[in-house]
Amino acid sequence: MTARIIDGTDIAAGLSQAVADAVKHVTEDHRIEPGLAVVLVGDNPASEIYVRSKTAKTAAVNMRSLFYRLPVAVPEDELLEQIERLNQDATVHGILVQLPLPPQIDSRKVIEAIIPLKDVDGFHPLTAGLLSTGLPGIVPCTPLACIMLAKKVHGSLAGLEAVVIGRSNIVGKPLAQLLLMENATVTIAHSKTRDLPEVCRRGDIVFAAVGRAEMVRGDWIKPGATVIDVGINRVSAGQGKTKIVGDVAYTQVAEIAGAITPVPGGVGPMTIACLMLNTLKAACMQNGLPPPNVGA
Ligand code: NAD
Repeated sequence: MTARIIDGTDIAAGLSQAVADAVKHVTEDHRIEPGLAVVLVGDNPASEIYVRSKTAKTAAVNMRSLFYRLPVAVPEDELLEQIERLNQDATVHGILVQLPLPPQIDSRKVIEAIIPLKDVDGFHPLTAGLLSTGLPGIVPCTPLACIMLAKKVHGSLAGLEAVVIGRSNIVGKPLAQLLLMENATVTIAHSKTRDLPEVCRRGDIVFAAVGRAEMVRGDWIKPGATVIDVGINRVSAGQGKTKIVGDVAYTQVAEIAGAITPVPGGVGPMTIACLMLNTLKAACMQNGLPPPNVGA
């Protein structure tokens, strides 16, 4: 079997276009220009790339893009003050502080400083609580992207066996919550799971969110299953060059799976499109408008 490739770039382009159209309506009909503020501390090269693509995409979907760069040695107080200014600014609807942060800054404090209505990354504990109790709110971008990609293959996820590898607060746990809301039967595997290959073989859908290059092997996958690869790992490509690979051994898994996301070009572009959707959603929530009918 050769798996169908789930083209995240193409699906993200469709979602971004729908967001751009909805933003135009909100701006024309309600005079609200959704705005996303991105804060970068320091000059981590990977963070620079992420931030650049987020700010470019914000402008591409007709939203206001604000960018704040703070020096790597910035004291925690100054970052918190910057966040507070953005909390108070009515023209800013979403605030994103690019992680990781330098060691003098407590990431937890920073995440909790963003008011939940502007928490477009969906990392605030209140946002997590809303999600886990099934109440309306912002849904973290990467887990939302994973669900949308899986639904492109399966339509409904109800009754499917879903295996999530990874239990982080930003990917694994919220993804498991979303899968429950979709009525999937969910197994969360992690670093202490016994016989991970056997657990994975149960999955009609396997989501890999570990951060270990090509860990998931072909014989871990039930023939015909869907594989969604969240991992982003930089590895050597020889001759001093590097390349990005996922958590899934793509070539061998694609021989067994029914559908698979590539890395790059799978979850990554969809995550950014979901960030745009969340910013639009946040702008609507902050102005008493119904949530946009996009990406459902
Ligand atoms: P994390 O380090 O916070 O969590 C990793 C999880 O994997 C942990 O819960 C741990 O229990 C589990 N794990 C570690 N070793 C394991 C093993 N040997 N077997 C089974 N489970 C194991 O990472 P994260 O923030 O959740 O990110 C995971 C990956 O997803 C990373 O590669 C990250 O770069 C990537 N990521 C991609 C996007 C995107 O937009 N595509 C967004 C967020 C994260």
